Amino acid sequence: MEHRLGNPQSTIAVIQKYNFVFQKKFGQNFLIDSHVLNKIILAAGITKEDMVVEIGPGIGTMTQYLAEAARHVAAVEIDANLIPILKETLQEYENITLIHDDILKVDICRLAEQYNEGRPIKVVANLPYYITTPIIMGLFENQVPVDNITVMVQKEVADRMQVGPGSKDYGALSLAVQYYAKPYLVANVPPNCFLPRPKVGSAVIRLTRYATPPVQVKDPALMFRLIRASFNQRRKTLQNGLNNSPELSFTKKQIALAIETLGVPPTVRGETLTLEQFARLADLFSAGEPVSSSDLT
Ligand code: SAM
Repeated sequence: MEHRLGNPQSTIAVIQKYNFVFQKKFGQNFLIDSHVLNKIILAAGITKEDMVVEIGPGIGTMTQYLAEAARHVAAVEIDANLIPILKETLQEYENITLIHDDILKVDICRLAEQYNEGRPIKVVANLPYYITTPIIMGLFENQVPVDNITVMVQKEVADRMQVGPGSKDYGALSLAVQYYAKPYLVANVPPNCFLPRPKVGSAVIRLTRYATPPVQVKDPALMFRLIRASFNQRRKTLQNGLNNSPELSFTKKQIALAIETLGVPPTVRGETLTLEQFARLADLFSAGEPVSSSDLT
């Protein structure tokens, strides 16, 4: 077997040797292009100081590249059928910890403690598209010490991460990514770089975590409840979106007053608000400003 994966021949050889059957439910599209792999490693800025968590190593293609660039790699793979394959393709590397588990159940903070003394790690992945958002949100919201996240995602998702108000792609993911990190589009990647070929285009995006978010907000969790409420019903006005949300319990009057204090028209839609405006809105609610007004019950 070829030692270095990342080309069609060696990938096919591994697949055939193990009679591996691709599982659609796990979003399995393996990278077969060494240029893309090198670009990912370069964009992530991995050095021999770094500990990297790889989500979904597949047959271990990117894992080989990561192990050569990093000090330590923890690779988390859900598919039991890939574990024996990974044990073989990664056998020559002594700096890899292979974990058979669902990434959404793994305590990544503990991995950082265990292998990086709690210092910020790097996350690299050719993500299974079906769980891109929960993975990225989980890394940010669970306060995982992370330096940057360099991931292959569906092109459309990469677009969503970078846009602001006025675009149809603008949504809760855009705001969450932009509150926590600076997004940078590394490369667009066509379907022929994968086996099997996905139906959609892909893109590599790097999210560099801010030391301090670009906006100040007293209660970020409340801000994200407001954001989710606004985009869950994006055709509705902000007033109705906040009023209908099961996650919020403000009265109609409180909401109306907050919107007025924000200085936007009562008919405004949430999708037109900037991150700064959502932060200000959250502060109005959390500081009790609209609530404290005497005419509110
Ligand atoms: N990194 C490999 C590559 O680039 O060739 C494989 C990428 S493939 C798009 C996604 C990988 O994530 C698959 O190996 C899949 O089995 C794995 N995966 C899917 N869901 C997962 C989960 N919840 N936890 C961990 N791994 C998962």
